[in-house]
Amino acid sequence: MSALILDGTKIAQEIRTEAAVEAKAMAAAGLRPGLAVVLVGHNPASEIYVRGKVKACEEVGVYSEKLTPPESVTTGELLAVIEELNRRDAIDGILVQLPLPPQVDAKKVLLAVDPAKDVDGFHPMNVGFLSTQRPGLVPCTPAGVIEILKRSNIPIAGREAVVVGRSDIVGKPVAMLLTNANATVTICHSKTHDLPGVCRRADILVAAIGRAGMITRDFVKPGATVIDVGMNTVTDPAEFHRFFSGTTAGNAKREEAFRKKGSTLIGDVHPEVAEVAGALTPVPGGVGPLTIAMLMFNTVKAAKMRHGYRVPELLRV
Ligand code: NAP
Repeated sequence: MSALILDGTKIAQEIRTEAAVEAKAMAAAGLRPGLAVVLVGHNPASEIYVRGKVKACEEVGVYSEKLTPPESVTTGELLAVIEELNRRDAIDGILVQLPLPPQVDAKKVLLAVDPAKDVDGFHPMNVGFLSTQRPGLVPCTPAGVIEILKRSNIPIAGREAVVVGRSDIVGKPVAMLLTNANATVTICHSKTHDLPGVCRRADILVAAIGRAGMITRDFVKPGATVIDVGMNTVTDPAEFHRFFSGTTAGNAKREEAFRKKGSTLIGDVHPEVAEVAGALTPVPGGVGPLTIAMLMFNTVKAAKMRHGYRVPELLRV
């Protein structure tokens, strides 16, 4: 048996199209949604992520602004930037690209973002809204995980869900969203005993660990849905071949790309899981594309909530 591959790129495009329709309607009413992205210094990975976010805004019709304080910025200076964005009516969403330099108190900066403009959903007030099922802004990657499940018609209510990872930005909110959708949820972490045994209980297994290919076939109940949030860069040819031996067409294509680029992106789920799972998100092309799509939707949602509009079904917590 080979798992059904859940196409995150296609689902993300659907969501972007829906966000574009909403953004256009708001712009027609003189309330074009606006996103401000704060990018401190010159972290190459952060620059790539921010470029992707600004480009998505252009495509969807969301106004965007990039603020680029220098690497040497202080906590006080960054707080002043956030305060200014909090005050500006044209800005509905504020995203502070992480990581911030070590001299900056990142928690203090994130806490300063107006919860109504907190499109990352990291502010404790939005965390509280999520856990008490009140309208608020939900972190993008976890919201994307739920959209993949719903739009792929994978039932959640009453199912056993296991989430490996308990970070504030992925594991915990995914677990909360699954709980709110009536799954029976277990959260695992580095101190969990018999991790493969616990994972094998799952009808829906979410891996958000940050360890390349850690979830092997013995972690997966046959037929389970496996959502791979992990994004790990593999550069060592021996490691590459450990994951992608064999001569399937997909492997040959990846091998050629690896030879040219010297690296490949791999999730937390070992490729062999495709032989056991019922459905699986690929890496790349699974959860990844949903993150920016949900950021676009969160920006539209923030604009709607701030201006007292009805929030569409997808955008509700
Ligand atoms: P994180 O903050 O480092 O959290 C990792 C979690 O995994 C922790 O809870 C940790 O447990 C757990 N863990 C680590 N080793 C483990 C082990 N051997 N057994 C069981 N649990 C283990 O990472 P994160 O920010 O949540 O991100 C997780 C992954 O998702 C990363 O690969 C990241 O790149 C990716 N990610 C992808 C997107 C996307 O857009 N697709 C967005 C965000 C993150 P403890 O709590 O006990 O330490």
